[in-house]
Amino acid sequence: MNDILIGIDFDNTIVCYDSVFYEVAVERKMIGCELQCRSKEQVRDYLRGIGREDQWTLLQGYVYGACMSRANPFPSVIDFFKLCREKRIFTAIVSHKTLFPFNGPKYDLHRVARQWLEDQQIDRIVAQIHFEPTRKDKLHRISQIGCTHFIDDLPDFLAETDFPKAAERFHFDPNFSEFKHQFRRLHSWAEAIEWIISL
Ligand SMILES: [Mg+2]
Repeated sequence: MNDILIGIDFDNTIVCYDSVFYEVAVERKMIGCELQCRSKEQVRDYLRGIGREDQWTLLQGYVYGACMSRANPFPSVIDFFKLCREKRIFTAIVSHKTLFPFNGPKYDLHRVARQWLEDQQIDRIVAQIHFEPTRKDKLHRISQIGCTHFIDDLPDFLAETDFPKAAERFHFDPNFSEFKHQFRRLHSWAEAIEWIISL
């Protein structure tokens, strides 16, 4: 198994921000309590809908910078990493993350993300951790470290024309989105564990 290297995205693939965006938006008085559904996408669409894209970028800075500790790992993702380690399958986190938020206070987003991985003790299980400032750098890293597989929540990233051909692409899709694409879908980390067991 040790010719396998599974690359994994970070935000919204390993880290679940489910209610954090909504809670922070309410606390910061960016929105009232009027939203029915409280997902990250719902909050984004609401703020964009009322012409407050600026508030949306500010909110992302707060969540990824100041409130990261309130986010949880997706269910079973840590078990997935442990199983891979048992089976001597290497895993690497490869994330596109700017060093600072686009807007607002200058939180060091890479440091905060590494701290979160340490708090969750994920840093001890994965072989490599890379935070890359641009999408292009992320693609380059996936190629450079030789990922044989890559798991990401963004199908448009997987569909990049210069995505490394050697890596089999998986769309992490916990919300059963309607995006049409040819990539294999993983709806949960439990499903990913089944896949690893089947190898
Ligand atoms: Mg992501």
